[in-house]
Amino acid sequence: MRERMRKPKAIIVGGSIAGISCAKALILAGWDVVVIEKTRGPPTGNPTGAGIALHPLSQKIVKSWLHQPDLLHNITLPLTIDQNRAVDREKNICRVLARDENFNYLQAHWTDLHSLIYNTLPPEIFFWGHLYLTFCISHDKSTVNVKAKNLKTDEVIDIAGDLLVAADGSRSSVRQTFLPDSKLRYTGYCAWRGVFDFSENENSETIQGVRKAYPTLGNGVHMDLASGTYTVLDELMYKRLNWIWFISQPEPQPKGDSATMKVSSDMIKKMHQEAEKIWVPEFARVIKETKEPFLNLIYDCDPLTQLYWDNVVLIGDAAHPITPHCARSTNMAIADAAVLGKCLERWGPENLHSALEEHQSVRLPVTTKQVLHSRRVGQIKLGLPTPDREPFDPNTASPEDCEILKQRSLPFFDDVPSILE
Ligand SMILES: Cc1cc2nc3c(=O)[nH]c(=O)nc-3n(C[C@H](O)[C@H](O)[C@H](O)COP(=O)(O)OP(=O)(O)OC[C@H]3O[C@@H](n4cnc5c(N)ncnc54)[C@H](O)[C@@H]3O)c2cc1C
Repeated sequence: MRERMRKPKAIIVGGSIAGISCAKALILAGWDVVVIEKTRGPPTGNPTGAGIALHPLSQKIVKSWLHQPDLLHNITLPLTIDQNRAVDREKNICRVLARDENFNYLQAHWTDLHSLIYNTLPPEIFFWGHLYLTFCISHDKSTVNVKAKNLKTDEVIDIAGDLLVAADGSRSSVRQTFLPDSKLRYTGYCAWRGVFDFSENENSETIQGVRKAYPTLGNGVHMDLASGTYTVLDELMYKRLNWIWFISQPEPQPKGDSATMKVSSDMIKKMHQEAEKIWVPEFARVIKETKEPFLNLIYDCDPLTQLYWDNVVLIGDAAHPITPHCARSTNMAIADAAVLGKCLERWGPENLHSALEEHQSVRLPVTTKQVLHSRRVGQIKLGLPTPDREPFDPNTASPEDCEILKQRSLPFFDDVPSILE
């Protein structure tokens, strides 16, 4: 029989995908939770962010959190094809490098996925517009006290709990407390990104053209590689195309804490001109007609050697900042949350450290390998030097060289932790 009568309480910092997934998983495990999030409110229908490719395990987990599991299909499109092609505009050649026709992902818009999970949670657990400041652990290490500032009133509040979950993203200030020397690593490249909304013009020449050039659009993820650069193109629900274009460049001057750079109309114009030179004209046209493209600086972090300290645990991007080449960050965040919930349920609040130890032993080997694999895939696709192979050239690469381009080559790709079975 459990010794305590009161429900254990977790304080989650961060209300993005990792934070709300964790809130869901912990509530199901019998915990009380509060979520501290600095943004003013839940994201609404506006197109914040872009495409999230959900792995079958994430689909299973998210469905288990919904009253009506099929709701996931209402906000997603199937991704059944994972294709990489070499594009050489000078010679007018497009050659398939690697194609997986048994890809079983679903493509969601970030905001839609967030809303789907968020709507299953009691709204009163959220402290929107609150900036996490610090925490302190009691002498007997049984409780944790968190200070957060209400950004509207400047009032500082104290919240006491049994567990602090840091879901505060790749620049996690909680991680910084334990690992002041752990720095994000600039990868050497940036990504232009955009969402092309064609809801008001479904039959435009641009859309007809791009559908002809990519006949499996709406059904797969399409990666085009040219020398030292590559793009990703896929379709989202509600008549939108999601695209990303990775380009090598030295690290621009960091501006504040954001990995998104402000771009000038001059930069956008130059980007359009380059797109016309490198990519198939139908895709270049989509890029050109996309409103408000933005530029992300791409970082990751050397894998950590631990995920928890006393009663503080890191999850999601706070635990393992990763490059986006293998569509992992959201999938990892969802798996972290589900595993943490199951470990806490299995061990009960009186054995918190055993639960956190088990969570770490399940997640750390997987996330470590996946972060390093994703880093390597990025280096290969961008033709950057790697310690053990010649820079990849899509125009001369052999089929064996191209195997790594498939998402399926990711370590632990089909792995389902036994605690989730
Ligand atoms: C607006 C947005 C759009 C995104 N779009 C995409 C996309 O299109 N494709 C994709 O693959 N990934 C996208 N991502 C990233 C993706 O959601 C995450 O990489 C992944 O889901 C892991 O999520 P996370 O919750 O660990 O981290 P994040 O999504 O980075 O969330 C961290 C959260 O913590 C909050 N936070 C940080 N510090 C504090 C503090 N001191 N006090 C209070 N709150 C704090 C942040 O406001 C944020 O909500 C997006 C993230 C965001 C926030």
